[in-house]
Amino acid sequence: MAAQNLDAHLFIDGRWEEGNSGSQPNIDPGTGDAIGLVTLADAAQVQAALDAAQRAFPAWSALTGQARGAILKKASALLAECLEEVAVGLLLESGKTKADATGELRRTVETLAWNGEEASRISGKVHQGIVAGSTRLSVPTPLGVVVAITPWNFPAVLVGRKLGAALAAGCTVVLKASEFTPYSARAIVQTLVDAGLPDGVVNLIYGDPAAVSEQLLASPVVKAVSFTGSTQVGKRLAALAAPNLIRPIFELGGHAPVIVWSDADIEKVIQVTAPAKFGSAGQSCVAPTRYLAHHSIHDALVEALAAKAQTYKLGHGNEEGTTLGSVAHAGRVASFLQLVDDAVAKGAVIRTGGKQIDRRGFFVEPTVLSSVTSDAEILAEEPFGPVATVQSINSVDEAIQLANAGLYSFAAYVFTDSIAVRDKLVAGLHASNIGVNQTAPSLPDVALGGLGNSGYGYEGGTEGVLAYMHLRLVSQSAA
Ligand code: NAD
Repeated sequence: MAAQNLDAHLFIDGRWEEGNSGSQPNIDPGTGDAIGLVTLADAAQVQAALDAAQRAFPAWSALTGQARGAILKKASALLAECLEEVAVGLLLESGKTKADATGELRRTVETLAWNGEEASRISGKVHQGIVAGSTRLSVPTPLGVVVAITPWNFPAVLVGRKLGAALAAGCTVVLKASEFTPYSARAIVQTLVDAGLPDGVVNLIYGDPAAVSEQLLASPVVKAVSFTGSTQVGKRLAALAAPNLIRPIFELGGHAPVIVWSDADIEKVIQVTAPAKFGSAGQSCVAPTRYLAHHSIHDALVEALAAKAQTYKLGHGNEEGTTLGSVAHAGRVASFLQLVDDAVAKGAVIRTGGKQIDRRGFFVEPTVLSSVTSDAEILAEEPFGPVATVQSINSVDEAIQLANAGLYSFAAYVFTDSIAVRDKLVAGLHASNIGVNQTAPSLPDVALGGLGNSGYGYEGGTEGVLAYMHLRLVSQSAA
């Protein structure tokens, strides 16, 4: 694989620059080695990014949607051209497999292109007026400067989703990307620059996350904050956004149940859910985690899931044949071990896995737990790792009750051929993204958003672009 420079600098007002608050290493979690540096912004640089975004807004928002969309589509094409090279950097800084890294970048290419098309489709409505000959116009208008804050688990596609929609809408952006995966954000911003994005329209910063967010959200020029990350940080950002009534668009944690009814085809359940469970080492907000299996097929499902888990070949993403990479950092290993140990201490049985792998980097075994007791922390806390639990259920009502227990309301999966069971489950689940006999991916063309502790607002689709716009009502009489 090609070696490349993975250093990440700030991008402010059209210039790459060093951060004035020092730097920290970008660590390859597959080895634990430093592979580059990320430089950190001081308060003056955060302010410079806000000022640049504010200055760039009038001209950018005045462009036609077609002109803005052309830049997004060009950036998409440029990213497609260098996809293999960028995939190497993404893989190195995230611990993903080659397939996961290239798959994520292909989705990023699609996301930029779809939003580029959508920019020219943005349209309002004409309503009848209240007096003869008059009309009422509903006119979508860009909000202004947007703050975007992204996590490490999908460091490319989540940057693409936020920038794609905000730029299509006519907003300008200050992006605070994850310091764990700074290269991926840098690479996507570079494709936009190469596609002709005017100075100041996107500004990229890294820094002390808490201090930078506090400063950004205290600014009166910021009109929306789009955040993907943990529920805990989301609540903190909501509080920071409240005094200035900054519009929040939040995609937060998930802890997806998988209800497997008695008539389900177990082979199909494994075939469909295992890639979503073990892909990106389980560090996905839609990862299927809590399997709730009808008692008649419970043992067979546990066996099949454990057998599948044992087929993964753990390794560094650049090793031939690797099908399961590392977790993102040392903290994820500690959290995995703590949740497994707690479950076992309370009575759970490890059917496979359960341990850290003795090699360089941050690797844990793909793990399946059965007989998990209701007080186990892993049933309440998002495990964000390659671990699944299986519990036995006797009725649809019990399945709904267990599925809905806990903090999150994001993805859920249902496997049954019975229309009656399906309908009752879908109606009863507190989930915003339900896969019936299939996965439930987040695609660029359809809106998706979490409920309750999993977030609010939408990303994707027409609604995802309108999230960055205000519908102005213009009531006008005929001249
Ligand atoms: P995180 O909340 O720790 O970090 C996300 C971003 O917030 C990063 O840029 C980080 O630097 C910043 N941040 C961290 N602490 C902060 C603080 N105190 N104040 C302000 N900003 C802060 O999340 P993570 O560990 O990077 O990502 C994993 C989380 O993201 C999981 O909870 C996962 O479910 C969630 N996620 C949700 C979706 C979705 O679509 N719902 C998608 C991907 C990830």
